[in-house]
Amino acid sequence: MLSITNVSFRYKDRAVLKTVSASVQSGECLAIVGESGSGKSTLLKLVFGQMDVDDGTIFWKEQAILGPKNKLVVGHDFMKYVAQEFDLMPYTSVSENIGDHLSNFFPDEKKSRVKELIEVVELEGFEDTKVQFLSGGQKQRVALARAIAKRPEIILLDEPFSHIDNFKKQSLRRNLFAYLKVNNIACVLATHDKNDVLSFADQMMVLHKGSVMKIDCPSTIYSNPGHPLIAAFFDEFSNVNGELYYAHQITVVDDGPLKAIVKHSFYKGHYFLIEAELNETVVCFKNATALKANSVVSLCLKR
Ligand code: ADP
Ligand code: MG
Repeated sequence: MLSITNVSFRYKDRAVLKTVSASVQSGECLAIVGESGSGKSTLLKLVFGQMDVDDGTIFWKEQAILGPKNKLVVGHDFMKYVAQEFDLMPYTSVSENIGDHLSNFFPDEKKSRVKELIEVVELEGFEDTKVQFLSGGQKQRVALARAIAKRPEIILLDEPFSHIDNFKKQSLRRNLFAYLKVNNIACVLATHDKNDVLSFADQMMVLHKGSVMKIDCPSTIYSNPGHPLIAAFFDEFSNVNGELYYAHQITVVDDGPLKAIVKHSFYKGHYFLIEAELNETVVCFKNATALKANSVVSLCLKR
C-alpha cells in the first residue's frame, strides 16, 4: 500500500504542503480535490519522487519513495504518473506510443495488448496516426493508455480528463476506472470533477491551502460536507442559518413559514435551478418548472 506520512513541502520560502497524511491500499482509488493552487499537483510529484519532501515519508509497500537528492533516476517500474502536461513522442504513431514500453519479445501478445489499450481509451481508427496530429483530448488518452500499458501497481493521474470533451468523458472514465479495478492498480487522482470522485474513488482528500481539510469516503463527505468549500465542490448549495443545504434539499411547498422571493430560473435539462431570496440571503433550489420572478414561494428544508 501507499503510505504518505506527515509530508511537508515548500517552494523556497512558501509552504505548499503541511503535514499531509494518507494511505491507499492496492487497487484502491484516492481522489485529491481542492482549489487551484491548493497543492494537488505538488503532492503527486512528491509521491512520484520527482521532488524531495522537506519532512515526512512516502512508502509504496516496503519501499521508500526518494526524491532526486537520493535517487538519481526519477521513476519506478511499479508506479506510473500522467502529468498535467503529458509528454508523448509526437512524431510516432498512437500504437507506437502506447506499445513503447511493452516487450517486443512476443509480437502477437504485444499487438493484442495495444489493441486492448486502444479500446480502453477509445482511440480505435487512430492506431497509425502520428501523435502530433491529434487533438489535446486525444493526446491525453494516449498518455493514459501508455501509463497503464505495463500494468503498474499504482498510477498517479493529474486531472486526467481535463482536455477531454463531455462526449467522450463519461465512457472513458468508466473504462479507465474499470480497467484499474480489474487489474488491481491503485490510483491517486487529482481532479476538479465530482463525477470522478463520487462514482469511482474509495477515498477523497480535500486539500485546502496545503493542509488536509478532510479525508474520508466520498459518500460520508458528500452527506456531511461541513464547509462551504466542500459543499460547493459537489453541487449548488445554500447557507440557511449556518446550515448547508444542497439545491435538491430545498423544495417548494404549498404553505409554510419560510417565505422566499424568486429571482431567476435557470434551465438545467430535467429541472430548473431557482435562485431566490430568503431573509436577505440568496438560496438555490431545484424545481420541475420555472418560477415567475418576484413571486413568493414557501420553502421546506430537508437534509
Ligand atoms: P494545484 O495542482 O492544486 O493547482 P500546485 O501543486 O500546482 O496546485 O501548486 C501549489 C502551490 O505551489 C501554488 O501556489 C503554486 O503557485 C505553487 N507552485 C507550483 N509550482 C511551483 C514552482 N515550480 N515554483 C514555485 N511555486 C510553485
Ligand atoms: Mg495541478
